[in-house]
Amino acid sequence: MTHLLDPSAGAGPTRDGLDAWRELPAAQQPSWPDEVVLREVIETLTSVPPLVQPHECDILRTRLAAVARGEAFLLQGGDCAETFDANTAEGIRGKVRTLLQMAIVLTYGASMPVVKLGRMAGQYAKPRSSEVEAATGLPSYRGDAVNDLHGDRTPDPRRLVRAYANSAAALNFMRAMATDGSADLEKVHDWNTAFVASSPLGHRYEELATAIERALAFMRACGLDLAGMPATHAVELYASHEALLLEYERALTRYDESGQNAYALSGHLVWVGERTRDLDGAHIDLLSRVSNPIGVKLGPSTTPEVALALAEKLDPHKVPGRLTMVIRMGAGRVRELLPPIVRHVEAARGKGSVIWCCDPMHGNTTETASGYKTRAFDDVMDEVRGFFEVHASLGTHPGGVHVELTGDEVTECTGGAHQLTDADLAGRYETACDPRLNNGQSLELAFLVAEMLQAARVSRSR
Ligand code: PEP
Ligand code: MN
Repeated sequence: MTHLLDPSAGAGPTRDGLDAWRELPAAQQPSWPDEVVLREVIETLTSVPPLVQPHECDILRTRLAAVARGEAFLLQGGDCAETFDANTAEGIRGKVRTLLQMAIVLTYGASMPVVKLGRMAGQYAKPRSSEVEAATGLPSYRGDAVNDLHGDRTPDPRRLVRAYANSAAALNFMRAMATDGSADLEKVHDWNTAFVASSPLGHRYEELATAIERALAFMRACGLDLAGMPATHAVELYASHEALLLEYERALTRYDESGQNAYALSGHLVWVGERTRDLDGAHIDLLSRVSNPIGVKLGPSTTPEVALALAEKLDPHKVPGRLTMVIRMGAGRVRELLPPIVRHVEAARGKGSVIWCCDPMHGNTTETASGYKTRAFDDVMDEVRGFFEVHASLGTHPGGVHVELTGDEVTECTGGAHQLTDADLAGRYETACDPRLNNGQSLELAFLVAEMLQAARVSRSR
């Protein structure tokens, strides 16, 4: 059984400490049954073209620098776990559309650009709290890059190549959608209008939707051809995932043209999860050495000291837009746990030296009596509200939200306009891992967050 390859195996250049992580504790790595196959796979992944380019990562970093300065807002969203089967045109289109629908509402609410970052095209590996699944006694599902949710749970390294190929296909499709008119401002707004008209709680959002409608009408009246304007016709869309599988990430880590800077080219932004953010562990070490914009998840056990130490290690030079701290404390605890962290990090490093982003999903997971993992929409919104309250009281920027969502009308989270109950979950419960907001719930979240952003703007200008 192999967790990682022998460092002397020569899986690519080892300068700049890009393989230093091999000597460090690495949590959540699969036990690959066959080292020979793993070695072949890693050789393949070391030679294939990268999925993204360094300059794209740099542009995203400059966009995120605006978020850090309080001049833009970050919207990050997609599946908890992508699957090969669900990597279809329809599935990708639904998620991209949902992100674009949310982005319009947030752009208006914040009066700021919204950085659109899919949790997509690479989200194929999952950390698990237990080696075995309680309900079945099977080894835990670790994401489609590792094992099969519905079949053999033995880790198979060949799945890493499929993860690469599926990521490439998804990225290709996303890139096309960004420029082929799918992102057309008026079209996307029309979908939002249809949502507001049909949602039981739509009247709550009518004011905002009407205001956006009037802004568009005003632009048209001024003679602006919205469909012909690149800024309203095409969008910048980026891809992100959790950098969990170190062999995979290392194989896709490459140098830029100057040969000076290494990038994890499996996605534009990669993040370290709550279970692998050990300050002295392998994940933090590898990501500290790449030049991408990166994220780190911070859960309720995070002390202000640990948050600062992570920031110092991952972004010692305070590169604008480099580091996003993704806060996932739970609705009941964010108001208590977040303020000391923000205060400590900003006091030591300066205001806006990191981006504060709210993940209102992972601290709010519960299990129903019938065994469904779910999240209540009200808890999700309450954590976002708490996050905004904390930043309002500290005078810091609530930089963004990170949500698990899909474009489909699944029944995985309870509540929302259709007031889904525990009993409704069985209807369309399709997630391979955590429960996601469906299209309607995602849009509701966007409208509510837009109201908070508007209120934050009004109170700042007073
Ligand atoms: C996730 O984002 O799906 C996840 C596992 O989150 P966290 O690392 O915050 O628990
Ligand atoms: Mn998740």
